[in-house]
Amino acid sequence: MDPLFKVEVLSQTPNPQQTIYAGMHQDYAEAFVWDDRASFPDEDKAGDLVIRNLLGGNRGHFGPLEHPQIVLNCGWFPHSTMQQIRTHRVGISFDVQSFRYTGKKILEAADGTKGIEEVFYLRPLGAYTDRQGKRYEYTEVLRNEDLAWCLEGAKLYAKRISQGFSEEHARSLIAFDVRQHWVMSANVRSLMHLMDLRAKDDAQLECQQLCDLIFPHFEAWVPSIAAWYKKNRWGKARLSP
Ligand SMILES: Cc1cc2nc3c(=O)[nH]c(=O)nc-3n(C[C@H](O)[C@H](O)[C@H](O)COP(=O)(O)OP(=O)(O)OC[C@H]3O[C@@H](n4cnc5c(N)ncnc54)[C@H](O)[C@@H]3O)c2cc1C
Repeated sequence: MDPLFKVEVLSQTPNPQQTIYAGMHQDYAEAFVWDDRASFPDEDKAGDLVIRNLLGGNRGHFGPLEHPQIVLNCGWFPHSTMQQIRTHRVGISFDVQSFRYTGKKILEAADGTKGIEEVFYLRPLGAYTDRQGKRYEYTEVLRNEDLAWCLEGAKLYAKRISQGFSEEHARSLIAFDVRQHWVMSANVRSLMHLMDLRAKDDAQLECQQLCDLIFPHFEAWVPSIAAWYKKNRWGKARLSP
């Protein structure tokens, strides 16, 4: 995996499994469940009950899992990954730099203040297959050519900026996979849906790697649900309609 890829947690709902339990409990309880909160099961037990009553046996009762939220900061991923992840729009929200107003790092790549690989992403050297399964090799020679191309584009961007172009005009000139950071908030259900679609084998490699970095945070936050998810859905391409 690219050494710069990073996912960190900005914030998350505390007691998420108890929160899901509260939603589930209100589905059948006559009482106002807030009044019962002193007798809620602890996080672990709440997680077990959620699995048993909502998820187990593929019941598909996902609604209560929409309450707890996690806010992630995803960093140094290629533009193409950001684009693909942003197609998920139900229960997920994003903020990402548009390069319309600012683009200092491109200028820094052009003048060498920032390393070209810190600003642009290229896949690592190695053996790859195309969509038809045909193998090809990404050699050092080819990768160096591509790095030089990224640098050329950054230099042309810098030239146009120096000629008075706006950032939104000059950004068309740079290599496609400029690295980007984004903030993404999701709930337990929408994050599982994103992983359903993006951790599986035919998703873009970098999307799979993003999921690999998201999963440990998911696991630390909602351990029972993450264990159920890993066993039943992770990488299995179980898609919702
Ligand atoms: C391997 C792969 C390749 C892809 N290739 C392309 C591509 O070439 N070009 C491209 O444009 N996109 C592509 N996509 C994106 C894909 O078409 C979806 O837009 C994307 O995966 C978002 O998933 P989602 O529809 O589940 O959306 P989410 O926003 O995650 O929605 C969650 C769920 O809510 C429901 N839902 C959401 N919106 C609606 C709606 N408007 N009407 C009814 N139900 C809705 C659906 O059940 C949906 O599954 C690709 C995705 C994958 C995984």
